[in-house]
Amino acid sequence: RSGAKSYTSELINVTFSDVAGLEEAKQELREVIDYLKDPKKFQQIGGKVPKGILLVGPPGTGKTLLARAVAGEAGVSFFSISASQFIEMFVGVGASRVRDLFSSARKAVPSIIFIDELDAVGRSRGAGFGGGHDEREQTLNQLLSEMDGFDPHEEVVVMAATNRPDVLDPALLRPGRFDRNVVIERPDWRDREKILKVHTRKIPLSADVDLAVIAKGTPGMTGADLEGLVNEGAIIAARENQTVVGLQHLERAKDKILMGGERHMVISD
Ligand code: ATP
Repeated sequence: RSGAKSYTSELINVTFSDVAGLEEAKQELREVIDYLKDPKKFQQIGGKVPKGILLVGPPGTGKTLLARAVAGEAGVSFFSISASQFIEMFVGVGASRVRDLFSSARKAVPSIIFIDELDAVGRSRGAGFGGGHDEREQTLNQLLSEMDGFDPHEEVVVMAATNRPDVLDPALLRPGRFDRNVVIERPDWRDREKILKVHTRKIPLSADVDLAVIAKGTPGMTGADLEGLVNEGAIIAARENQTVVGLQHLERAKDKILMGGERHMVISD
């Protein structure tokens, strides 16, 4: 059981065109893509090779999507795990899962390792009981030592996501580890409109639907919320045997989300 594979590895077909907005973040990540596409060229020029990148932002804002899109753009293998999966009831499992993940990614270079919810293992050490024998600490120590073990020519980029950068152990942020931050903000209305466009690409909309109006009427909503809104609107239309999704369906979907009735269903991440 403890030896079970806990990460997923895949080739990704998501690209930046599937990620609406987030232009600055994409710009910062282009360098990573360039590197992964042709690591040798990058090394010859003597560019500083990106190793560890932390994506920071609220839940549902597209951090996972963006990391997948970097892998898709570069055409490299994507190894991902949610940090909460590192830690289970079996002592010692977390550290061995970290080892396993890194050794697999090293065999598949160039590759990306993506660790979601980094804060689940990355909280400051010594904050709890356990006195250094704590399972989570062992896992974190293993992660730190794997990252230190990279030689500069190892063609693996580690990306991680968190919405709690403030609780991370400072050791994680030292040079050579997660020394670059890419900040992801909640979308403004223009980006919300772009997100709605992406998620209605395959949905027939009636002529009365103006996505800009919906975007302006959904302040605070994230990409995940908006994806949920579109899905909910389509469900409402289908229930009424409509062949297109109209403004009223989307408005009702929005009300439902804002009232919180099905919020737990809509924001699934
Ligand atoms: P969490 O921190 O909860 O893991 P996250 O920031 O990783 O959240 P994602 O899982 O990437 O968020 O986003 C959830 C879903 O919301 C995505 O699969 C995508 O469908 C949609 N989404 C979020 N942001 C965007 C965006 N900028 N463009 C298009 N779709 C988006």
